[in-house]
Amino acid sequence: MPTTTAQPNPATAATKWLSTKAYGAQSATTPIAPLTIERRTPRPDDVQIDILYCGVCHSDLHTARSEWPGTLYPCVPGHEIVGRVTAIGTDVKKFKVGDLAAVGCLVDSCYKCDNCKEGLEQYCSNGMVGTYNGPDKYSGGHTFGGYSKQIVVREEFVLTISGKLPLEGIAPLLCAGITTYSPLRHWKVGKGQKVGILGLGGLGHMGVKLAVSMDAEVTMLSHTPSKEKDAKKLGAHHFVLTSDEEQMKKIAGSFDFILDTVSADHDYSFYLGLLRTSGVMVCVGVPPTPATVHAINLILGRKSLAGSLIGGIPETQEMLDYCAKNNIVSEVEVINIKDINEAYERMLKGDVRYRFVIDMATL
Ligand SMILES: [Zn+2]
Ligand SMILES: [Zn+2]
Repeated sequence: MPTTTAQPNPATAATKWLSTKAYGAQSATTPIAPLTIERRTPRPDDVQIDILYCGVCHSDLHTARSEWPGTLYPCVPGHEIVGRVTAIGTDVKKFKVGDLAAVGCLVDSCYKCDNCKEGLEQYCSNGMVGTYNGPDKYSGGHTFGGYSKQIVVREEFVLTISGKLPLEGIAPLLCAGITTYSPLRHWKVGKGQKVGILGLGGLGHMGVKLAVSMDAEVTMLSHTPSKEKDAKKLGAHHFVLTSDEEQMKKIAGSFDFILDTVSADHDYSFYLGLLRTSGVMVCVGVPPTPATVHAINLILGRKSLAGSLIGGIPETQEMLDYCAKNNIVSEVEVINIKDINEAYERMLKGDVRYRFVIDMATL
């Protein structure tokens, strides 16, 4: 079993390190396999968490396989983390040992810039620190994510969860949930509005559940006919097959808001045509090829094409509380960590309803 020791930087040389079992990739071409990482022992404002469940996000796969630039190895993915607090620093106020806790996509930011002051840490002007593959100022190396036994995170970035809902269903809320909740809230989606959710995967299924809970009239837009039954089960009021010209003609110019969760190349202009006057389409998926949109498709009907990245810490907590109150969890398939590589292959084929979650007791 390969061992990786993060090199402590001189400023924190006194820090003690916790040897932690994990799963990660040693290079872009090696599978996810067991390794040992070092976590810092809690500093005064740190919370140490035993990880119970960790969701599997497409970003994990893209990063582990270096499909996006800048992967640092070894890469331990995972940013949909739910667990139990095992130790706290002396200044920690929000948590005590034994509490449930959650960690999402970010574990640090500057807390000085305007975005951080507004609770938009994900847009930190000085660069937010991702839960994995981010610069770790304490170790001098890079951050390691949730495919591991434990994690140590600054209190401000640790979220509270209730024990009311199944923990495995809560884990994906930390990325898929907040990624869809934040734009729905920002653009004030609600009663009386017609909302289209484009793409029914990990993000799309949360988009449907959340938009329905906000009393919008929700249409699932998908190119897979077999997903109609699922879309209705998730609460969608309508289902439209995007490859069916007749159906598409009928819904042209009808939506107030479209949440575009598709990360494969697609024609934005085609879907902008579904918006009514002043409608907004928000992208949360990142297709590999830059898209071309003719300005006329925005000008005619005063339409907006926008983007949104996860959510800040206050909004992520608001989303978790909202989901607890409204009994919203992700649809998950719980897996043994030994099956993570197979899960990646299945995820690439869209063969998951709708999120894999690792049972960390299997590590
Ligand atoms: Zn994610
Ligand atoms: Zn900042």
